[in-house]
Amino acid sequence: MTVEVTLSIIKPDAVHKNYIGEIISRFEKDGLRVAALKMLVFSRQQFLGIYGGHEGRPYFEDLTAFMASGPSVVMVLESEQAVARNRAIMGHTNPKLAAPGTIRADLGTATNRNAVHGSDSTETAQREIACLFSSEEIRTLGG
Ligand code: ADP
Ligand code: MG
Repeated sequence: MTVEVTLSIIKPDAVHKNYIGEIISRFEKDGLRVAALKMLVFSRQQFLGIYGGHEGRPYFEDLTAFMASGPSVVMVLESEQAVARNRAIMGHTNPKLAAPGTIRADLGTATNRNAVHGSDSTETAQREIACLFSSEEIRTLGG
């Protein structure tokens, strides 16, 4: 099976609540490996690179303000089927609909404060990772 990479973001709500270690620990315990990691406050350009496709949606202004409201932790995660594995560990977009034991069910509070982001496909992952990391910053096991 092919090893994939995916982008994970620990969003400002979860960073503010001191959940960085808890969230990374869940990924590591489920077999995802951190291949790159940094903390940043999203610039407008970085934000649009990840969420530009949501422009025009009713929640877009709130999402814009929220993602600029404090630091996020951004990570490249690596494993077999990393995209699907990360999405499974995250749970449903709406924490109230997320399965118990998922990050969003346990640590998120609402759809607009759902603790984490994860890429939705390998193609999206490549694009999102390139928005936030240079190739020198990424240390996958594959090299
Ligand atoms: P996911 O993060 O699960 O991939 P989407 O790509 O649909 O979900 O949405 C991206 C982000 O936009 C969500 O994680 C959430 O922060 C925000 N969002 C999406 N839909 C809503 C909504 N109906 N109300 C508030 N915020 C939303
Ligand atoms: Mg999405």
